[in-house]
Amino acid sequence: MTGDLATFESALRQKLPAKSFGAHDPKYFEEPRGLFHGTPTLVLKPENTAEVAVILSLANQEGIGVVPYGGGTGLVGGQVADRKHAYVVVSLERMNRILDVDPTGNVIFAEAGVLLQDIQHRAANADRLFPLSLASEGSCRIGGNLATNAGGINVLRYGNARDLCLGLEVVLADGQIWNGLSRLLKDNTGFDLRNLMIGSEGTLGVITAASLRLFPLPKNRSAAFVALDDPKAALDLLALAQDSLGENLSAFELMNETGAAFLMEKMPQVRQILDPTPSWSVLLEISGGESFLANNALERLLEKAFESGIIIDGLLSQSESQRQSFWAFRESIPAANRLVGAIYSHDISVPLKSIPEFVTRANAALAAFGPLRINCFGHLGDGNLHYNVFPPSGRSKDDFAEQRERIRETVYGMVHELGGSISAEHGIGRLKKDDLARYGDPVKLAMMRHVKTALDPKGIMNPGVLF
Ligand SMILES: Cc1cc2nc3c(=O)[nH]c(=O)nc-3n(C[C@H](O)[C@H](O)[C@H](O)COP(=O)(O)OP(=O)(O)OC[C@H]3O[C@@H](n4cnc5c(N)ncnc54)[C@H](O)[C@@H]3O)c2cc1C
Repeated sequence: MTGDLATFESALRQKLPAKSFGAHDPKYFEEPRGLFHGTPTLVLKPENTAEVAVILSLANQEGIGVVPYGGGTGLVGGQVADRKHAYVVVSLERMNRILDVDPTGNVIFAEAGVLLQDIQHRAANADRLFPLSLASEGSCRIGGNLATNAGGINVLRYGNARDLCLGLEVVLADGQIWNGLSRLLKDNTGFDLRNLMIGSEGTLGVITAASLRLFPLPKNRSAAFVALDDPKAALDLLALAQDSLGENLSAFELMNETGAAFLMEKMPQVRQILDPTPSWSVLLEISGGESFLANNALERLLEKAFESGIIIDGLLSQSESQRQSFWAFRESIPAANRLVGAIYSHDISVPLKSIPEFVTRANAALAAFGPLRINCFGHLGDGNLHYNVFPPSGRSKDDFAEQRERIRETVYGMVHELGGSISAEHGIGRLKKDDLARYGDPVKLAMMRHVKTALDPKGIMNPGVLF
């Protein structure tokens, strides 16, 4: 990218209103874990798709990089720009309108800058569920969710962001607008370009709007927080729950004891759920329609699990506020992690049957680096673990800077060997591009490069991400 930013800006000012030029707020150049720091540059805040098209067309002409920005909550540095290139940030935050809600057709249309939480609320007001749910839902925006193919707590039942999207509107690198805002569940007319754009992390175009699937709003739900000895018992519980509850099982979150310890240490205001803290625990939630007796169904499941020795303790939510306190505990773990400071956070997935083996082997391998603390938690039903490695109490992550790479290689090597993925839900961004080059299938990588060259021949879209 060799374009001249000053020339680009003065040409753009002839075409866009002043309010589409943002202030140099530092938030656009930082990311949640402080791993990347962008160089301040021009921040653009288009009001509509036509303005995005003007920006991209001119950026393509002038050879200026474009970094799409949603809510800035991405955890792999995709939204924080590469210092090496002349670039602009394009924030979608002013494109925050819900365009239509159709409860009969079970579809909602939203601009890319709508907060995830606002989509959930608008769906609920129409007696529908938009099931994508993440701890960052109050800050992340639907364009960012789709660009990263976000996962979250309901993937087990409803799928990833990809499975919840019917169509997209996208501005391509040369400024052309693809209107693919479909309402259709079935559409077999050639390449699936929507799925190509989803998960492309801003490297192929800017998502400007989406049509999203809605579902019946669960009328009855219930959650339980249970204690178990190990991940193998958690898998047994998952199998039992799926056998007896089928698709009424909507979330299944595994946590080891470190999460509870970090919360006690750094966020004592968060209520602990089980006393004493078990080695492993699972938060599971079930939901269904008006006739589904959630509490009874979950109670029966817990009885069976106790009888067969799968769980050793547990609490069934007796009220909505108790259910919420279970989730507050689970969803506060990432914040506690940040306060402790990880040496390395691994967002990985392995085939379900290999999870116990992975945890045992990874814990044993990392013991060689010292008495590290492992906070292992995640969306177990999807095979997704956050396997985060912390220094011993009283030490800093900086003391382990030299071991960082070897720790990462040890974990990723094991994940690769077990047929898993080095990025289950956060994406590749700038953080994992070398890992993708190392562990990715070479033919897949070559196909990705061909697609990138075809759609963005000058390489203006999010330079430095993925490749
Ligand atoms: C506390 C916390 C919990 C989290 N939990 C989860 C979780 O459970 N599951 C999960 O999957 N993720 C999780 N995340 C990660 C993050 O919230 C998601 O990746 C989210 O989808 C990013 O959305 P965003 O709007 O913040 O995107 P940003 O961070 O702004 O951008 C992310 C990437 O998408 C690109 N992008 C953004 N908008 C567009 C657009 N309109 N068009 C094209 N490209 C675009 C950016 O260039 C960047 O590469 C969590 C993050 C935090 C801080």
